[in-house]
Amino acid sequence: MNMRKKIVAIDMDDTICHLIPKALYYHNMQYPGLQLMMEQVTSFDLSGIWHPECTEEAFFGRPGLYEELDIFDEYTIEEIRKMTEKYDIIVITAARPSSVPEKWNWMQKHLPFIPFENFFVAKRKYLVGFDLLIDDGPHNIIAASEAGKETILIPRPWNAHIQHQYQLKDNWQGMSDLVDQMLASKTK
Ligand SMILES: [Mg+2]
Repeated sequence: MNMRKKIVAIDMDDTICHLIPKALYYHNMQYPGLQLMMEQVTSFDLSGIWHPECTEEAFFGRPGLYEELDIFDEYTIEEIRKMTEKYDIIVITAARPSSVPEKWNWMQKHLPFIPFENFFVAKRKYLVGFDLLIDDGPHNIIAASEAGKETILIPRPWNAHIQHQYQLKDNWQGMSDLVDQMLASKTK
């Protein structure tokens, strides 16, 4: 009988740290005449709402951006640490290649108990064999769910259109208990 630990995959941006708010902050500093708000970010394609002079590279590729992101909330670290006692916790991020060193630095600072082996850079997350995914990206949650995985969706304005279909959790307090319940109800 296979007694491997179940694998819980956790997204990084806007799941364990806040990317979009910080990127908006820098956009709004640079273009004071166009103040964007979170509620306007209804998809990952921001090209229709950001300043005409803004680019993907300027918005998401600002040097140092990924090292200074705030932790999601005051429960995030302890809940993830708690889950490492029971599960194989992997952090899986669809990182732009240039941001990977910054993201790993962030990980070492905030989640030093997650080893390098458990840090996955992957855009096609559904190819990874996890049991449960915690993510804010609608495409990731839909693909994982269709592959038969358990999912927890972090509700954000850009996933409002699928929130009615998925288990939601908008903060990290009690996240490990929720994961326990969801994985315990699976027979395999
Ligand atoms: Mg994300």
